[in-house]
Amino acid sequence: MAARVIDGKAVAAAVRERVKVDVAAYKEETGRTPGLATVLVGDDPASEIYVSNKRRTTEEVGMRSIHHGPEASIREEELLDLVRELGEDDDVDGILVQLPLPAHLDSDAVVQALNPEKDVDGLTPYNAGLLAHGTPGLVPCTPAGVMELLAHEGVELEGAEAVVVGRSKLVGVPVARLLLQANATVTICHSRTRDLDETCRRADVLIAAVGVPRLLGAEAVKPGAVVIDVGMNRLEDGLAGDVDYDAAAEVAAAITPVPGGVGPMTIAMLLSNTLQAARIRTTSG
Ligand code: NAP
Repeated sequence: MAARVIDGKAVAAAVRERVKVDVAAYKEETGRTPGLATVLVGDDPASEIYVSNKRRTTEEVGMRSIHHGPEASIREEELLDLVRELGEDDDVDGILVQLPLPAHLDSDAVVQALNPEKDVDGLTPYNAGLLAHGTPGLVPCTPAGVMELLAHEGVELEGAEAVVVGRSKLVGVPVARLLLQANATVTICHSRTRDLDETCRRADVLIAAVGVPRLLGAEAVKPGAVVIDVGMNRLEDGLAGDVDYDAAAEVAAAITPVPGGVGPMTIAMLLSNTLQAARIRTTSG
């Protein structure tokens, strides 16, 4: 059996189109243009590509991109000042600080300096708290993208066994919370999980967010499962996911490729979150 390929590029294009229409309506209603500020510290080549894609798509959907690119040597206090200034700037609705930061900067401190209303990556303790509480707020982009893919594929989550491999603040924990909110029965695995393959094989929906190339093979996949591979591991021969795609695709019913699965969804959801942040600020302000 060859699994259905979940086309993240197509779903992301549909989300961007929806955001574009909604941005036009927002401009019409309010007379203002939503703005996304990106902050890229230093000149890491992979981060530069991510940020330039984010800026380009921001403008493609009709929003304003505001960019700051301080040198890698910036002092933490200066970066915190910049993040706080953007938090108070009325033209800025969303702030994205590209991670990881250079080692001398404390990313937790930088995230905590973000204005939670503009935290379009959903990383501040405030937004993480809202998610934990089940109250609507700004949800991290990659987990939101995973849920959008599952919805697009018509995956029934109510009562389903969902297994998430990875417990990061950025992906694993928030995606597990969203699955729980959708009434799945959720198990979270991590580096100390005793029998990873056996636990994963319970899953009707398997989410891999680990950062270990091709960790999960056919033995980790229940026949007929839906597999979402968040992993993006740069190898000499290109990008690899956390799932051994060829092996898993023999067993699964549907699977995301890497690249072309979750990756494009992350940017699409960032745009959607920026518009949501603009709307919240316009209504509350
Ligand atoms: P992370 O912060 O490094 O977290 C990795 C998680 O995987 C940790 O919870 C860790 O467990 C667990 N883990 C590590 N080795 C394991 C093993 N052998 N068995 C079971 N669990 C293991 O990574 P992340 O930020 O969540 O990212 C995960 C992956 O997603 C990476 O490949 C990253 O590049 C990718 N990513 C992709 C996108 C996208 O847009 N597609 C966005 C974000 C991240 P412990 O907690 O026990 O250490």
